[in-house]
Amino acid sequence: MPNRRPNILMILTDDHASHAVGAYGSVVNTTPQIDRIAAAGWVMEHAYCTNSICTPSRASILTGTYSHVNGVTTLATPIDNRLPTFVSQLRDAGYRTAIFGKWHLGEGEGHNPRGFDEWEVLSGSGGQGEYVDPLFLSPDGERRREGYATDVITDLALEWLDRQHEEDPDAPWCLLVHHKAPHRPWEPDEKHAGMYSDPIPVPATFTDDYDTRGLAAHRAAMRIADHLTREDLKQDPPQGLTYAEAALWKYQRYMEDYLACVASVDDNVGRLIDHLTDRGLFEDTLLTYASDQGFFLGDHGWFDKRFMYEDSIRMPMLVSYPAALPAGRRSERFITNVDLARTFLEAAGVEPHPGMQGESFFTDLREELPPPQDQAFYYRYWENDDGAHSALAHYGIRTQRYKLIYFYNDGLGLPGTRQNVFAPEWELYDLERDPDELHNRALDPKYAEVLSELKERLAFEQAKVGDEPYVLAHDGEGSPWPRRRPPESVR
Ligand code: CA
Repeated sequence: MPNRRPNILMILTDDHASHAVGAYGSVVNTTPQIDRIAAAGWVMEHAYCTNSICTPSRASILTGTYSHVNGVTTLATPIDNRLPTFVSQLRDAGYRTAIFGKWHLGEGEGHNPRGFDEWEVLSGSGGQGEYVDPLFLSPDGERRREGYATDVITDLALEWLDRQHEEDPDAPWCLLVHHKAPHRPWEPDEKHAGMYSDPIPVPATFTDDYDTRGLAAHRAAMRIADHLTREDLKQDPPQGLTYAEAALWKYQRYMEDYLACVASVDDNVGRLIDHLTDRGLFEDTLLTYASDQGFFLGDHGWFDKRFMYEDSIRMPMLVSYPAALPAGRRSERFITNVDLARTFLEAAGVEPHPGMQGESFFTDLREELPPPQDQAFYYRYWENDDGAHSALAHYGIRTQRYKLIYFYNDGLGLPGTRQNVFAPEWELYDLERDPDELHNRALDPKYAEVLSELKERLAFEQAKVGDEPYVLAHDGEGSPWPRRRPPESVR
């Protein structure tokens, strides 16, 4: 081990799918700068988000806890900034700390960033921030900065790094560079606009008809063909297209802008790596590139995230630290966003807060340990129809071979009716035979035994992290009803 504590740099993007990263074998773009981290360190093949949406994932990353523990279950639940985070713990241990870019964990006293020596975060659009001339919030108040958000955020980070280097080149620091990109509405900068005009490969599952899935997939308002807006597309589709042709036209338009936003991220990752390299800091920096979740890039016909399907829950996660970790490796270990806090703290030699969940994977990477046997992780999406994307709440587990999902479908009207449904549904996917998750086997008698074992495993994993099965809150025509447990058949 090196005799100095590492600098910790986390570059976190928003909605960057791992299948749009070169190091993960992207067929739709290249990311030469991000791939430098992979070449210098580890590609985590199975990095998962435990609640696939922006605000909760950020809370889990910072606090090292699941949504039901930190309380940030939905996009609308701000963080209680008194919660210990890996950043506040590093600061207590003598690290200099800063965050620039997207916070999106609430604004105001009690919710603003805490535990940072310096912070300046995107403030407009309800914490989402703006792509062009974005508004920032810092302890000094609001201020608009000219330029393209991804460049501006990187500029702030580089300026801060220079100040730290001038003050004391040897004292360790922890810097979070949190980009807004490539979040909706996917506004590229001028430099990258038009760079993806050639036809972009369409995923094999683009025309998924959700034949064997439950209500949730049919109901979700995340379909490229139907739910991208004019603001998303920036122009109207050509006249006279069939439904299928229009869907493909929208896919191309969506992906052109999405990938151009990623291209700017990639350039700016390169600027950060160059900056560290030029100052001799790259070797001693634990550099992580990750996104708060994955994203559907036309997979199953969707954009967006939320669902427990692979494209949505799989985070890109690249980790380099040349002074301590081997280079050019790929890990099959299951890790989640909850594990990051303990991992950073272990690398820094700082004792984690006892309330932090998850496990550090730092030693696994340093010593190249094989992945544990029989891995599984627990997932829960809490928003039960947000009124916009209309994804339904669910929880489940993913094991090495299978995925089991429980949609509790409580208190929601069937599409186009006022009739409430309570129709819990299971989905079971055999990822070995069906890696694209096209065939729900929950009702297939051949999988009855597997289903029963997975239900037990789900109960075990759920209890292990301290969560509980869903208890119905409503019954009948939208009226509150005494809370009761679901019938035996769906437990
Ligand atoms: Ca996000």
